[in-house]
Amino acid sequence: MTRRSSLGRAAVLALLSTCSPLLAADFQAGVARIRITPPSPFWMSGYAARTHPSEGIEQDLWAKALALRAGEGGQAVLVTTDLIGLPRAISDEVAERVRERFRVERSQLVLSASHTHCGPAVRKNLAVLYDFGEEDRRRVDAYGSFLVERLVDVVGAALGDLAPASLSAGHGSAGFAVNRREPTPEGVKIGVFPAGPVDHDVPVLKIVRSDGSLLAVLFGYACHNTTLGGDFYRIGGDYAGYAQAELEKAHPGATALFVMLCGGDQNPNPRGTLDLAVQHGRALAAEVARVLGAPQRPVRPRVRTALETVPLDFAPHTRATFEEEAKSPDAFRQRRSRLMLAAYDAGEAVRQTPYPVQALRLGEEITLLALAGEPVVDYALRLKREYPGESLIVAGYCHDVMCYIPSRRVLQEGGYEAVENTIYYGQPGPFTESVEDTIVAAVRRVADAVGLQAGTGGRP
Ligand SMILES: [Zn+2]
Repeated sequence: MTRRSSLGRAAVLALLSTCSPLLAADFQAGVARIRITPPSPFWMSGYAARTHPSEGIEQDLWAKALALRAGEGGQAVLVTTDLIGLPRAISDEVAERVRERFRVERSQLVLSASHTHCGPAVRKNLAVLYDFGEEDRRRVDAYGSFLVERLVDVVGAALGDLAPASLSAGHGSAGFAVNRREPTPEGVKIGVFPAGPVDHDVPVLKIVRSDGSLLAVLFGYACHNTTLGGDFYRIGGDYAGYAQAELEKAHPGATALFVMLCGGDQNPNPRGTLDLAVQHGRALAAEVARVLGAPQRPVRPRVRTALETVPLDFAPHTRATFEEEAKSPDAFRQRRSRLMLAAYDAGEAVRQTPYPVQALRLGEEITLLALAGEPVVDYALRLKREYPGESLIVAGYCHDVMCYIPSRRVLQEGGYEAVENTIYYGQPGPFTESVEDTIVAAVRRVADAVGLQAGTGGRP
């Protein structure tokens, strides 16, 4: 009860803190959720060390959708999933069906993944991790097809739920993410590096029904969803799953949607047990709840979106590179080299990967930049510096998770996020040092297209 009355007071404060006549229901918003827990046992994804399929279900996995509509045709649908990552083949198929069935364009659809390492293998994402037999391959393919259907369904259900709503935005902070790129005499290793860059920002988007009740909360955090290690064999959502469940328990009737931000080089700290996953989830949920209860900035009813796909260049390689790698005793290197040699044989050596970059701007105040792959934290920090006036949510893990996305700095330093990850992702090797500038240039173009100018914005 105390909590409820303090929320009410916060809402009044938020109303008083703005001079525009907002908080009337000016958007249309709808939410939906569909369970996407795989049958267990099922091969899990994220850790090369796992040797067998899952041994039960710790927590259900969900696909959730938030549909927003405002003004002259402006609309967007954000889909979040408790999954390691969506490969392009799934995102493209979902987007095409959504466009046909619901007239939602590709640029208006965000497809994101929480990067839980306790979820199922998703089609060809990280396929080098596995040496599937026929039956396993059939089950993984079937789950991929199931996923396509469910993601289309959840978008349709959210659009069918549209009703008047108002939006407001705020920011909090959570401290459990730590930079994991630990410098050692043998180079950068995955460890704990408290002196490295982090982004502890917790962006919160609050969506309230016209009766004042909470319809949904979208929140994000830049931290690998890897509290649990490769020795954990139960399906679940890790800290992001617990944060969402905690918020939904505290706000019956509301849907909590987690968006993974630029946490490519960030790990939860400490990590390694289920208790810690729950603890981090609760810490994040408590911070989101605090922001929900504090005065927030109202968002004006407008939705603008833009999406562009740019090619990212891989460093030059030759057939000999992979003929040599094929002799490696490492099974993962053998599998990667086979993929690359097959591409050479087909006359289609992998030189580039397509990279989608999307901007979704709400009102004049908040922009979600949806990046693909696993971007390191440098991207969020740089883009927030370049757009200081805007409330930015810089997400990664959207549309396609083809590999890690290092910054120029991380590429120069080397290590897992720069080089080794490409083995498990079945990519030929590191990007060229142009990768950061190519992505930032694409961000500027999609930002321009939604009316967001560098160095300026709506935030006073
Ligand atoms: Zn990762």
